[in-house]
Amino acid sequence: MTLCKWSKVCAPYEEGGLNIRRLADLHQAFMQKAWKRLREGNSLWSRFMLNMYCRKHHPRITPVHPLHSRVWKNLHKVIDEAESNINWQLGQGLCDFWMDSWMELGPLCNHYPDQKGGITVHEVWLNGTWDEAALSNLISPDHLGRVKEVFIDQGKPDLLLWKSSKDGQFSFKSTYEAVREQLHASSLYSVIWHQNIPKKMSFVAWRLLNGWLPVDEVMSKKGIVLASKCMCCAQMETLNHVFFTNPIAQQLWSHFASLVGIKSNNIQSIQKLLHIWSLSVNTTGHIKQVIPIVILWAIWEARNKAKHMAIPFSFRRLRSRIMSLLIMNSKANMTQTKYWTGDSFIATQLGAHCRSVKHKRPTLLCWEKPEKGALKLNIDAAFKDGRGGYGGILRNDQGELVVAMGLEGKCETQFDAEIQALLICLQECIARGYERMDTRHVGMKKLIQLEISGLPQIRLG
Ligand SMILES: [Zn+2]
Repeated sequence: MTLCKWSKVCAPYEEGGLNIRRLADLHQAFMQKAWKRLREGNSLWSRFMLNMYCRKHHPRITPVHPLHSRVWKNLHKVIDEAESNINWQLGQGLCDFWMDSWMELGPLCNHYPDQKGGITVHEVWLNGTWDEAALSNLISPDHLGRVKEVFIDQGKPDLLLWKSSKDGQFSFKSTYEAVREQLHASSLYSVIWHQNIPKKMSFVAWRLLNGWLPVDEVMSKKGIVLASKCMCCAQMETLNHVFFTNPIAQQLWSHFASLVGIKSNNIQSIQKLLHIWSLSVNTTGHIKQVIPIVILWAIWEARNKAKHMAIPFSFRRLRSRIMSLLIMNSKANMTQTKYWTGDSFIATQLGAHCRSVKHKRPTLLCWEKPEKGALKLNIDAAFKDGRGGYGGILRNDQGELVVAMGLEGKCETQFDAEIQALLICLQECIARGYERMDTRHVGMKKLIQLEISGLPQIRLG
């Protein structure tokens, strides 16, 4: 029996937890959502709550009375966290000048603790801009300049923006992520949990990585000291010995590693071994990531049978058990071709069903020279995780390089990256004096629909 911290269990898989959401964190995120609704004040419920509790004070500083409702008391507990997520974009200026956060500095009451609200922002405006005279009566010259930088869009209502989400709209996911305790993420933990791996097997691997499987060494650390003997030799039973260094486990690991073409020589620990197996493919849930978890589970099952039922711990028995587990597994859920990419021969060996991968036929592409005296620009862009790489190459009518361009920067989508690449390369060409352009050959329709990656060509005069 192993006890571990509830906060560790409540972490996502990749952070070493069991992907359980902590109720207290969920409650806090829901309360922040309710607080945001209350502050927007545009629903019947929010108007009722504001009239019920906040008639005399700003909602931030409304006190709690023992006779107040449970909802208001719970809302009151998240005021600081929720308010730190709120930023007002000024429109009509009905926000509180002191208590609301409508500028980068945060609410002005943080800098002027004696102020308790009561002035709306539009009271310090004059003809659609900031009234300097009124402002200088209220705040110090240090803050005056910062306040004057704040943009006013008087035609619209004040807009509440939620800071923890990218687009300013409230998102429960981002709020929950901000509320919960974040642990260090590890790629090893993220590969042991997948729909292709039965949960009981992932669970054994999880316990092993945390050192929680009750082998003799672990039990002795807990104060239960017994005479220890491994089921295959006379050594003390440690986790590393049972799962990795004992001769039968070594034979198993090298047998399956050679089956899928993984080199695992000179490895000292089970963690490193799992790392090598998991890094051998990019697809999560791939057969190469499933096999080691099945091996671990089978070893643990065989160890328990050897220890408690006196069933011999043998290589042949274990190997056939692992093969039959893999077949069962594949029949249950691993039938998708992508999980066998590059290793579909293993499916054939196991007798598992795996549709063959359709290979795309290669097509021949040819770069065509522009007409005599013209230059041709080819561009392309790549995009990954919010960053784009842009490149362009300008050649003359003989196909000789005139200039090559390359740059990288932030971008949001693949389309964004293509447009950025086009813009940057054209600007560079114009800067070099190539201004007359013939864009008849630019496939704008194709570009917009993203049928192909990159523009085919631009001819420059
Ligand atoms: Zn042994």
